[in-house]
Amino acid sequence: MILILLGAPGAGKGTQAEMMKNYYALNHLSTGDLLRAALKEGSELGKLAKTYMDGGRLVPDDVILGIIRDYLAAHPDEGILFDGFPRTVVQAQGLADLLTDKEPTAVVLVVPDKAVIERLSSRRTCRECGRVYNPALGIVPALENKCGCGGEIYQRDDDRAETIANRLHVYHTQTESIIEFYREKGLLVEVDGTGKPDIIFNRIKTALS
Ligand code: AMP
Repeated sequence: MILILLGAPGAGKGTQAEMMKNYYALNHLSTGDLLRAALKEGSELGKLAKTYMDGGRLVPDDVILGIIRDYLAAHPDEGILFDGFPRTVVQAQGLADLLTDKEPTAVVLVVPDKAVIERLSSRRTCRECGRVYNPALGIVPALENKCGCGGEIYQRDDDRAETIANRLHVYHTQTESIIEFYREKGLLVEVDGTGKPDIIFNRIKTALS
């Protein structure tokens, strides 16, 4: 099973990905998490990605497709949940070329912009494990400002108001077209992404059954 989770930044992809990977026993590849880990390590990939990520712009397609190619080679014949990828039609086509005989299913979480802006502004992330907390949705750590893993909880630079507007613009101008890409191929499942995480997850399970 190859699943692709689509939706605006803040649509709840990270939260749903966590539940989906456990339920369907899939490997979870979040390109955003992977780039943030590279940035933390200070690797060449991290340094390159930072110049794009800080402004809320997309990292070039060839860089991302290189990461995906390596990942698929390391996980042949395994179920994968892609989260935050593909973000452009070039990436979607690149994935189709890499998968050759397998067809993915794309699940898009549909959330209005207004709700997305509210969610992103109050979102906090663990610096160590990447877990997401959001007081506005009642998702809070047991200890104030400390993740269950012991990591510090912080606000991602790109979750600040100035960058959120740009990320949403990028989503509407570049990423939404891949929804059409999968719809035309009959590979798209649309799910209402508003409401509590458990309810959204039930909708996903029903849509995929
Ligand atoms: P995310 O955590 O998925 O919101 O990603 C954070 C940032 O990482 C994005 O705003 C982009 O700068 C970069 N990024 C993540 N995934 C991709 C991708 N598939 N293509 C291009 N840039 C990406």
